Amino acid sequence: MDMIDPWGSSIIDYEKLTEQFGIKAFKDVLEDIPDASKLMTRGIIFGQRDYKRIADSLKNNKEFATMTGMMPSGRMHIGHKMVVDQLKWYQKKGSDIYLSIADMEAYAARGISKEESRELALTEYIENYIALGLDVTKDNFHLYLQSENEEVKNLAYLIGKKVTFSQMRSIYGFDNSTNVAHIYTPLLQVADILHPQLEKYGGPKPVIVPVGPDQDPHIRLTRDLAAKFNDEYGFIEPSATFHRFMTGLTGEKMSSSKPKTAIYLTDSIKDATKKVKSAKTGGRDSLKEQKELGGQPDQCSIYELLVYHLVEDDEKLENVRQKCLSGEILCGNCKQCAVELLTDMFEDLDSKREEAHEIAKDLL
Ligand code: SF4
Repeated sequence: MDMIDPWGSSIIDYEKLTEQFGIKAFKDVLEDIPDASKLMTRGIIFGQRDYKRIADSLKNNKEFATMTGMMPSGRMHIGHKMVVDQLKWYQKKGSDIYLSIADMEAYAARGISKEESRELALTEYIENYIALGLDVTKDNFHLYLQSENEEVKNLAYLIGKKVTFSQMRSIYGFDNSTNVAHIYTPLLQVADILHPQLEKYGGPKPVIVPVGPDQDPHIRLTRDLAAKFNDEYGFIEPSATFHRFMTGLTGEKMSSSKPKTAIYLTDSIKDATKKVKSAKTGGRDSLKEQKELGGQPDQCSIYELLVYHLVEDDEKLENVRQKCLSGEILCGNCKQCAVELLTDMFEDLDSKREEAHEIAKDLL
């Protein structure tokens, strides 16, 4: 069986992933979700574990929590916006939002100090989260540094009692050269996910964890440990959704550490425009061929930008798709349209960032 590495993999074979690791198709629960989001209806969220529980909470206005975390490293790119869109959606549905800044993991896995993590999380990520519309001033929003959350650290220690090194090795591929702090960090992630169910936070409740598929090892370990500690804490096994990664502008996975693949949220409009204009598309080799054969939107990073972030209206999107397939529009026009939409988004973000900075600086 293949192994998923949460610290470095770039998995894109979603079908194989669902087959091998037992992730269920998200479309199976779609009709149970009131007012499903675009990320859901467009298949960007492709997989789930135990989502029925969350759908039931959504339908019947029952309490549930949303939990996610970030390991601050590098700049925030447009692919990261997907998590914010999901948090916003759940926040609007009345869910408590828990957001962990994994500074202990950043230290153990990447050697980033706590101060660097805090600074990077607030200035690069949280400011953008706020500018993108997440309401961090609400009582139901909980932001913390792992290293400063006593409940999380204590819980991580306690649940460690029921995991062996051999299990950790088989899940994560740790070997004799892995430092012990790193071996411990998955337990912190498990505790992050489970702690909203502690008495202090209102006791057991369904929890949804929206993540990329590279985080599934943490989800599986968490669900396993939740079941083992059910008698003691009443933990309900947390649910998860899995979203696709954005293809980078060069055709490989979008990555913070590869500037040519990514549009950063703090890029100038000039730089972002340049990146869009030179992005890899699903266009044909010549104009003549494109007019005859049509383009290939499913292999196009520009079309992906429209689907994931820039076009809200499904009809408009379908229109672009059909025109691309029939060869009626050419990549140059399409890129120009993406630039205009992206410019609107970036101008809006820029206008909100100053206020976002003022709010973010007092959060931790
Ligand atoms: Fe992509 Fe647009 Fe070109 Fe089609 S016409 S391949 S959607 S850039």
